[in-house]
Amino acid sequence: MSYEEFYRRSIEQPEAFWAEQARAIHWHKPPERILDYDRPPFRRWFVGGETNLCYNSLDRHLEARGDQLALVAISSETGQTRELSYRELHREVNAFAAVLKSLDVVRGDRVVIYMPNMAEAVFAMLACARIGAVHSVVFGGFAAHNLALRIDDARPKLLICADAGMRGGKVIPYKPLVDAACAEAASPPPRVLVVNRGLDPALRLIAGRDLDYAGLRAQHAEATVEVEWLESNEPSYLLYTSGTTGKPKGVQRDVGGYAVALALSMWSIYDVRAGQVMFSTSDVGWAVGHSYNVYGPLIAGATSVLYEGLPTHPDPGIWWRICEQYGVRTMFSSPTGIRVLKKQDAAWLKAHDLSRLQWLFLAGEPLDEPTAHWITDGIDKPIIDNYWQTETGWPVLALMPGLDMRPIKFGSPGLPTPGYRLRVIDEATGRDVGANEKGVLVIVPPLPPGCMSTVWNDDARFLSSYFGHFKELLYSSLDWAIRDDDGYTFILGRTDDVINVAGHRLGTREIEESVASHPAVAEAAVIGVHDELKGQVPVVFATLKQAGDQDAARVAAGMRQCVVDQLGAVARPARVYVVAALPKTRSGKLLRRSIQALAESRDPGDLSTLDDPAALDEVQRALARGADA
Ligand code: ATP
Ligand code: MG
Repeated sequence: MSYEEFYRRSIEQPEAFWAEQARAIHWHKPPERILDYDRPPFRRWFVGGETNLCYNSLDRHLEARGDQLALVAISSETGQTRELSYRELHREVNAFAAVLKSLDVVRGDRVVIYMPNMAEAVFAMLACARIGAVHSVVFGGFAAHNLALRIDDARPKLLICADAGMRGGKVIPYKPLVDAACAEAASPPPRVLVVNRGLDPALRLIAGRDLDYAGLRAQHAEATVEVEWLESNEPSYLLYTSGTTGKPKGVQRDVGGYAVALALSMWSIYDVRAGQVMFSTSDVGWAVGHSYNVYGPLIAGATSVLYEGLPTHPDPGIWWRICEQYGVRTMFSSPTGIRVLKKQDAAWLKAHDLSRLQWLFLAGEPLDEPTAHWITDGIDKPIIDNYWQTETGWPVLALMPGLDMRPIKFGSPGLPTPGYRLRVIDEATGRDVGANEKGVLVIVPPLPPGCMSTVWNDDARFLSSYFGHFKELLYSSLDWAIRDDDGYTFILGRTDDVINVAGHRLGTREIEESVASHPAVAEAAVIGVHDELKGQVPVVFATLKQAGDQDAARVAAGMRQCVVDQLGAVARPARVYVVAALPKTRSGKLLRRSIQALAESRDPGDLSTLDDPAALDEVQRALARGADA
């Protein structure tokens, strides 16, 4: 079927379309009503249907593919690889679920999971899903304060953590962070379950609260735990957004709609079917990790590759070696990850046999054209940009090679995926803008299956954060976009990343793209800095592909010229700073608001999602030293 026909049907006959897609998963009890939209913008998909994410991920595949690999968990940090067949993964998840039950975790209870990309993190998630507990995975790199905030929002009955994670060969103890978070939290979990990999010799369990997983697992190793059948709209998990723009929101996901959306996306977008292999480099703590390291590939009966470690450790060929070794068909990563590799020798991209790799999908932030070209040339595979949000749980914009591949346009994540009625509208008037004109990207509700149901415990925040921006009831993505004559959408950055230069509104994103087109530049952040005369002026912070051996002043002047040539004198950067690193969130997104604060001699604000404090110091030093151009 053509993409147009498929997409049109999803929009014109949503109930018929989704009823059909729902057949891809197992229902213990079929839905009574496909869509309930009686209380806009809240909507419920597959009402009355009963299903379970764990059953669809594991039990359903045992007969046909029990001995096929379900999960490969590779750690370049510990040097260990674990390969689990569907049967073995089913056994581990049952044991884990039995342990949870023995700790009185029941349907509806929240369980916070604070672990790195290790197999037990997947067991824990699936075990929660099996018994109807609501997991909330918190990215293992977050500090104690972030964890405490999420604990107080989710109020878990149990917290599951690892003794430690590792990064670049260095052990990072997790348990002391958990202890500190529990001390800070107003409602700490009564119990903490520790999966000990023996990485932290100083690990200390607190009597009466902390439990060692290995001991409990031994008691339940052969257990089978019955699946808890959940109504399609019960919560399956909570996941907090990255916090790029402020206080993270607790995205609440349902069960049935999510499973159906993932099933559809696996074959049609990611082109992965039962028996094939998908490798996502995401962390289980992010939305991509939930959807395409855990539930998506397993619901599809595929093999999921999970990777703990840096893209450059033990060497910059590690990802491609994994692709070769496991015959990965589809790989999923982020522009940040590729930019890390871009600083390395491009020869690493050619060092392995990638004949079975079909597609590299990238998501999470704008994919600038130079990076897209660099990786396309390097591995000689189609690179598919796809755009989504933690809130949506699966792509909003993508190309769909599993259904009907359309031409790639560099710089665009492509076309709307099924069920997403998108508009690009004028920020002030709320009217649709014309082709090739810039506006805010909005989704016309009801949101399709897979998208968030609400903000956990806070319907009011759901309404005000997403639906309160226009007169009409529309979900605002809070991202700028333009749609070209062929219907391809380009994302131009976040609506709060706009600067006003002498009355001209400029997207920092467009200026960044232009700076990054300079051949020496690895990555750029552009911010608006207060200026007496013009209101705001663009200021550039950039890292170079080859640090050190370049004349910073010359390269900086070159960047400025790129902007003037491509966007005009109005966008001319007032100052250009060459830095060794840029401050990012733990999910790899530029923290422009903090850079801007420093550049305006203000307090950098909430730094709880900052990845590397040294990068902020680096910006501070550059400011003190003075601009390079
Ligand atoms: P918060 O909402 O807490 O501020 P966040 O928006 O960074 O954090 P995520 O849900 O992880 O949290 O990120 C979604 C955002 O990432 C999108 O709204 C968009 O700005 C950006 N994004 C994701 N994919 C793409 C893409 N392919 N192209 C451009 N931007 C993208
Ligand atoms: Mg967001």
